[in-house]
Amino acid sequence: MKKAILLACVMLASTSAFSSSKSHWAYSGHEGPENWAKLSADNIACSGNNQSPINLSGFIESELTPITFNYKKAGDEILNNGHTVQVNYKKGSHIQIEGQTFELLQFHFHAPSENVINGKSYPMEAHFVHADIKGNLAVIAVMFEKGAENKGLKNAWSKMPEEAGDKHSLTTVMSANDLLPENRDYYRFNGSLTTPPCTEGVRWFVMKNTVSASDKQISSFSHVLHEANNRPLQNVNARVILK
Ligand SMILES: [Zn+2]
Repeated sequence: MKKAILLACVMLASTSAFSSSKSHWAYSGHEGPENWAKLSADNIACSGNNQSPINLSGFIESELTPITFNYKKAGDEILNNGHTVQVNYKKGSHIQIEGQTFELLQFHFHAPSENVINGKSYPMEAHFVHADIKGNLAVIAVMFEKGAENKGLKNAWSKMPEEAGDKHSLTTVMSANDLLPENRDYYRFNGSLTTPPCTEGVRWFVMKNTVSASDKQISSFSHVLHEANNRPLQNVNARVILK
C-alpha cells in the first residue's frame, strides 16, 4: 500500500504540471487537508484566502456570457494517480470565455462532490481542467446525481484503472462533451486547485445543471480510490459568486 501511494505521488509530479505537488499528501491522517500547507513550502497557497472548494450560495445576479465549447473527441488515456481517476486529453480542444481561450488538458472526478451548491452535496463531481497560453487555469465543474447510467462514462469506466499508478489507453476515444449537461449556464467565482499545491487564481465555472450516473458507476469509482477524495469546504472570505 505504502509503495503504491509513493508511486502515485511520483507519477503525479511527472505527468501534470498543473495539478501536481512534489510533496506526498493524503485526504486523511497526518498528511491530510488540515496539514497540506505545512507539508512543503510549495504548498503555502493551501492556507490562502481564495481556496476551493466552497459552498456556492449568496449569489450576485450577473450577465454571464455563455462559454463557447470547441471540444473534439480526444480523451484517449485513463489513469489512477492515487488521488483521482483522470482522463487525459490530446491537444486541440478549447473553451472561449471572458475573451480568452483555454485548452482542455484533462478531466477527473471527486466523490462525493467538493463544491456544494446552497449547502447541497452531490455524490460525484467532474473537473475539466483548462489552461490558457500563459498557464492561467480555468476549471469547469459538473455535478453528478444518482440515476440513469451515464453513457459518456461507460467506455472509460470499462477501462477503470484499479490500482494507483495504473494507466490504460482508451480504444474508444472519449468526448468531454458527453459529460456536460445540455444547458450550460454556470456559476462563476475565483478559487484554487483543490489539491496541493492549491495554486490560486483559478477561474471556476460550476454548471447549474447536473448530469446522472448510476449507483454502480459512482461506487466503482469510489472503490478504486478506497476513500473519499473531496477536500473540505474552504472559507469564501471576500469573494463574490456570480450567477
Ligand atoms: Zn478536481
